[in-house]
Amino acid sequence: LLGLTKKLISVRNILQSIDQSDALTLPSIVVIGSQSSGKSSVLEAIVGKEFLPKGNNMVTRRPIELTLIHTPGVQPYGSFPDLHLDNIKSFSTIQSTLTELNLSVPSHMAVSDDPIRLHIHSPTVPDLTLIDLPGYIQIANIDQPDELKERIEALCEKYIREPNVILAVCAADVDLANSPALRASRRIDPLGLRTLGVVTKMDLVDPVLGAETLRGGRYPLGLGYVGVVTKPAERLRGRKGEEESLSESVRRREEAFFNGNKEHFYPEENTAVVKSKGKNAAVAKTEVMVGTDVLRRRLMEVLEGSMAGALHGITNNVQLELEEATYQFKVQYNDRRISAESYVAETVDGLKARFNAYANQFNKPAVRERLKGMLDEKIMSVLEAIYWSDKRLANGELNALAAGDLKKALAVDSNAAASSSSSGFFGFFGSSKPEPTTKTKELPAQRDLKDVETYWKYKLDAASSLLTKSGVGRDSTALVADGLRSLIEGIVGAEPMNHHPAYAERITQLSHAILRRYMPVTSDQVENAIKPFKHDVDVEEREWAEAVGRTVNLVEKEVGMLEGKIGEIKGRIGGARRLRGLMEYVRAREKREEERKKAGAANTEEPIDYRYSPVQVLEARNAQLYTDRLATLKLRLMALKSKQCKAGPKADSVCPEIFLNVVADKLSYMSTLFIHIELLDQFFYQFPREIDSRLIYDLDRNEVQKFARENPAIRRHLDLQDRKDKLEQVCYCMVQLQSLVNLRKESQPKQ
Ligand code: GDP
Repeated sequence: LLGLTKKLISVRNILQSIDQSDALTLPSIVVIGSQSSGKSSVLEAIVGKEFLPKGNNMVTRRPIELTLIHTPGVQPYGSFPDLHLDNIKSFSTIQSTLTELNLSVPSHMAVSDDPIRLHIHSPTVPDLTLIDLPGYIQIANIDQPDELKERIEALCEKYIREPNVILAVCAADVDLANSPALRASRRIDPLGLRTLGVVTKMDLVDPVLGAETLRGGRYPLGLGYVGVVTKPAERLRGRKGEEESLSESVRRREEAFFNGNKEHFYPEENTAVVKSKGKNAAVAKTEVMVGTDVLRRRLMEVLEGSMAGALHGITNNVQLELEEATYQFKVQYNDRRISAESYVAETVDGLKARFNAYANQFNKPAVRERLKGMLDEKIMSVLEAIYWSDKRLANGELNALAAGDLKKALAVDSNAAASSSSSGFFGFFGSSKPEPTTKTKELPAQRDLKDVETYWKYKLDAASSLLTKSGVGRDSTALVADGLRSLIEGIVGAEPMNHHPAYAERITQLSHAILRRYMPVTSDQVENAIKPFKHDVDVEEREWAEAVGRTVNLVEKEVGMLEGKIGEIKGRIGGARRLRGLMEYVRAREKREEERKKAGAANTEEPIDYRYSPVQVLEARNAQLYTDRLATLKLRLMALKSKQCKAGPKADSVCPEIFLNVVADKLSYMSTLFIHIELLDQFFYQFPREIDSRLIYDLDRNEVQKFARENPAIRRHLDLQDRKDKLEQVCYCMVQLQSLVNLRKESQPKQ
């Protein structure tokens, strides 16, 4: 023996980890036999341990691929490589694991061809690979599917193909003619060149007949028959009280039986076979072979022989596969090697680099610009609430005031002045500000310039505090935080993080946690910083001058938007003329309703007019609103572009739009300052560190592998690289083994 099997078993394990194809399959010993033929007892006697599932109804449902690895100086242990269960010293645990795995096959399937891989390391086992298959049954039990018999036969047939060695287990007390194992072997291996017979329960038959069976006269097999008695004798206890091992007890029983009948089993010259524990057991095939030790040895020889025979073909196949893998690796990846670790590091570096690249989106001018945009919108809603719905503004009072046309300003319709007071503006403050209401109510009677000015001054104060007290701290912090959130979402949603959804989610959560930590304090700080503006805003000439152009732009944008909206309505209604007609109709209708209301009519509603649909009426109303607003804004644009508005901060109450713009600018400046210190600096400092500590350093080896393999491109790269490496390793091994075999062939005397 060359120790070929041991080396080839390790090669086989490598090949199994990269390929399941037949071309790279090294031979194994496949154990078949009918139920109760003693198959399990034989396997356990070979291993020297009880580890196979037992029980009345315990049919093996999945093949067990048993790899025995002779390992001197260790306490025997097992491992299930596919389950990542290693170093199991308790064989009853192995037994219960096998039982569980067996039972995991759904009963309607009865048997599965998905093998359970089990490795056993022990100083007393030979190097062997054995595949235990479900035992042949005659008829299915009541609770088993009818086709179970056929399924088991098909499964066995699949496994006993070349290059595997068939170990056909038959009980001595059953006629070999009735052995399903021998029948199956004969079909596939008619000359029995790959079949070794094991005759169990030799103790149950007459030794003369038993020895006759082993000589194989009736059913000759190329590899012969070995007779065994594998039912253990009652276990003896040693001097220290420890129980005798399974192998010892089997050996004792076999010795007792075969030595007791030596005249039948051992021809004169071989009487010491069993006693010498198999050392001289390599008997010629015509002689009878008996005992588990002989069986072990015979199995090793047979397996090694067939492995040596298969070596050449497989070496060639491995070389071909290696060439292909090498070529692919060159073509696809230009021989670039990667590792799961390098991929993780690259991914994290890439993440951080992109994060930093986007950091300038959050520099001070950019943030200030965005906050200013938000505040511009606020200005618009404040103007809308305080000014644009005020009829006194629409009627030109403020413009007249701005233009210094005091007569005109005072001449503004007194009705409008009265009704404006109860419009949106005071409504905005609810009942907490009753005083101006009473004051303005008196206006129509005694309007003088001072009153008019006070009115607009008061409006300005209200508008300013509406802006400064609108929750700028909260809103500006939220705006920037939203920007950060979508930045992170953008980064983790793109390559390569899109392949790692769980990690992308983790990163997103990390960023949210940081934001949650710093948002409240940021918002408070901003509010604190802008507190002075809530009471009084000092505007410098320069600030005013800068704000004029911005304000004109802002109002012009609004004008453009309104014109756009009116244009859209025109398009939907069917042209300007049609819209005008419709608007006139709606105005007349509203007027009639108003009059009826004044006259105290019970039903003020107009009868339904079928010329126009309710949707069209609504569109006309909107168009009216926009048109009125447009007129007001155009009026205001004229004022804003006038000399008076450009005069400086003293024009604040007559040019409130400019004043509010200055206020917004100051607010955005302060907010930006504090958001930078309290939120952005913290975020840009903490986030990359959190990724480092919670993403990379948190991963163990397996998680790193799992992470890398989530990316299909990386998985393919790693697989091909791994395949190439393993094939190289195997190829090297095979070539060496081949030369070893060749050497032995040459050194053997030619017959
Ligand atoms: P399996 O169903 O083929 O795995 O058969 P088992 O190994 O479970 O054996 C079936 C029965 O035969 C069990 O009760 C064993 O104890 C018994 N048995 C196995 N080998 C021998 C043997 O060599 N001699 C005797 N007398 N009984 C045996």
